Amino acid sequence: MKNVVIIGAGMGGLATALRLRKQGFDVTVLEKQARPGGRSNVIEDGGFRVDIGPTLLVMKDTFEDTYRAIGQDFNQRLKLVQLDPNYRIYYHDGTHLDLYGNMAKLAEEVERIEAGSAARLFRFIGDSARKYALGMDFVDRNFDRITDLANPKAGVRLLQTQAHQNLYRQVARYFNGNDKLAKAFSFHSMFLGLSPFDALAMYSLITYADLALGMWYPMGGIYSIIEDMVALANEMGVTLRTNAPVEKITIENGRATGVRLQSGEEVRADIVISNADLPYTYTKLIDGQHRRAYPDERLQQMEYACSGYLLYLGVDRTYPHMRHQALYFSEDYRANLDAIFKTRTLPAEPSFHLNNPTITDPSLAPAGHSLLYVLAPMPNLQGNVNWDEAAPVVREQLLTQLEKIVDPELRQHIVWERDYRPTDWVTDINAMHGTAFGSLAQGFFQSSYFRPHNKARDIDGLYFVGQGTYPGIGMPMVQISSKLVTERIVQEWS
Ligand SMILES: Cc1cc2nc3c(=O)[nH]c(=O)nc-3n(C[C@H](O)[C@H](O)[C@H](O)COP(=O)(O)OP(=O)(O)OC[C@H]3O[C@@H](n4cnc5c(N)ncnc54)[C@H](O)[C@@H]3O)c2cc1C
Repeated sequence: MKNVVIIGAGMGGLATALRLRKQGFDVTVLEKQARPGGRSNVIEDGGFRVDIGPTLLVMKDTFEDTYRAIGQDFNQRLKLVQLDPNYRIYYHDGTHLDLYGNMAKLAEEVERIEAGSAARLFRFIGDSARKYALGMDFVDRNFDRITDLANPKAGVRLLQTQAHQNLYRQVARYFNGNDKLAKAFSFHSMFLGLSPFDALAMYSLITYADLALGMWYPMGGIYSIIEDMVALANEMGVTLRTNAPVEKITIENGRATGVRLQSGEEVRADIVISNADLPYTYTKLIDGQHRRAYPDERLQQMEYACSGYLLYLGVDRTYPHMRHQALYFSEDYRANLDAIFKTRTLPAEPSFHLNNPTITDPSLAPAGHSLLYVLAPMPNLQGNVNWDEAAPVVREQLLTQLEKIVDPELRQHIVWERDYRPTDWVTDINAMHGTAFGSLAQGFFQSSYFRPHNKARDIDGLYFVGQGTYPGIGMPMVQISSKLVTERIVQEWS
C-alpha cells in the first residue's frame, strides 16, 4: 500500500486524507496546531463557541461530492440551515438592503432602493449564471499544459458575458449607475482577496452562487464540518497527528521521500502533499536547490490576497432584529478598498462583515446571550501597519459603528471578547504575509492554468492541495482541489 503524508489539517488536507484513504492509500496527516481546521478553526471559551474564519458555506454540492466520494451523505451527517436573506447590507447613511435568495423578495428590495431596478436585477442574475457556467469550465479540472485552456465555446461565452471587463463598473452599468446596488452586487470578490474595483466581471459568478445556489449554515458552526471530517478520518484509519509542525520536506535525487518534523523525527512517505500555504511551503519547507520553478524572487513577485482584523464579542443580550449575516459599507468605500489593496495602509474607516450566528443557533452562547463576529478586511503584512497599535484603534471604530446599527448600549453588555489580527495568521498557520482568506490573490494570471499547479514541477512525488493551488480560495474551491489532486494521484500511483 502506498503511503502518503499530508502537511496540514486544513479543510483541504482533511478532505484529501478521506478521499485517498477510501482509495486504499495509507494516510498520515501532520498538523502544526493543537487543533485541526487551519483557517476554519474555532475558539471555545466561557460558554461561547465561535468560528475563527469561515462562517457560512455556498456551493454545497462541492461538500456533498467530497462526502459521496467516501460513501457518506453530507446532508445526513450535518444539520444544515439555509439562510434567507443571505445578508443585510447597511449603508453609511442609515439605510439598508436585504439580499434575499428568493428572487421575488430580492426584486422588491432593489425596487425600494431605485424604482425600475427589478428588471435590471433579473438581467444581471441571468448573465451572472452564464458567467458561473463559463467559470466552472475552468475550475473543475486538472491542468497539464497551456493548451488545456483552449475552449472555443468558452471563448464565445466570454465575449457574450463580457467577463473580461471590470467588475464594479460592469455591475454599476447593470444597475443604471446606482452606487448602493453596484456595491451590493459586486463586493463578493473581496472573499477571493480582490477589490471589486480591480477584479474581473467574471467574479459575478460568486454573487450568483451566493444568491441563486443558496447559502448554508451547519448547526454548531463551520467547525462542526471539521469535527465530522476528523471523526470520519479516525473511523477510516487515517493517522492524524496534531502539534506536529513539519520543518522540511526531505528530497533525494529529485524525489520527495517524506518530511522532517521540528522535533527532528523523520516520517518517510511515497507521496507528500502540502496543504500548508503554497508560497510558504516552497520558501520554508523546500531547500532552494530543489525548486528551480519557484525561486524566492518569483514567489515575492506574486500577488498576495488581503488580510483581516476579527473581533468576536459575547454579549449578555439577544438581538432578534438582526439578520444572521450583514455587511457595513463605510462612507468612502473606495478609499477603504484602496487602503487595503493599493497603499496597504490602515483604512481611515473600515467596512466590515458582521455575523450573529446565535440568531440561527443559540447553542453557541449561554442562554440569553449573543455572539457577534466582526471581520474587517485589512491590508496584508506587505504593508507596514503596526498591529499592536492598530488593533485598539480598529476595535474602537468597529464598536462605535456597531452601536449605531446593533445596540446603542453594546459596550456595557460585552461579557466576553477576543480578537484575531493579521499577525496571528502567520503565527498560527504560517500564512504568507498574514493573508486571511487564502494566500495568492485570484487575479487572471493567478487563476486556473496560471495558478501554481497541484503537482510540483521539479520534485517527483510532491503535490499540493488547498487554497494556494487551483482552483483557489474558499471552502468550496478547496473541496474541488481535494478532488483534483486525488484524481491525479490515483491516476499516477494506482
Ligand atoms: C476570516 C475568514 C473568513 C472566511 N470566510 C469564508 C466563508 O465564509 N466561506 C468560504 O468558503 N471560505 C471562507 N474563508 C476561506 C477559507 O477558510 C479558506 O480558503 C480555506 O479554509 C482554506 O483551506 P485549506 O485547505 O487551503 O487550508 P488552511 O485552512 O489554509 O490550512 C492549512 C493548514 O496547514 C497547517 N500548517 C501550516 N504549516 C505547517 C507545517 N509546517 N507543519 C504542519 N502543518 C502546517 C496550518 O496550521 C493549517 O492547519 C474565510 C477565511 C477567513 C480567514
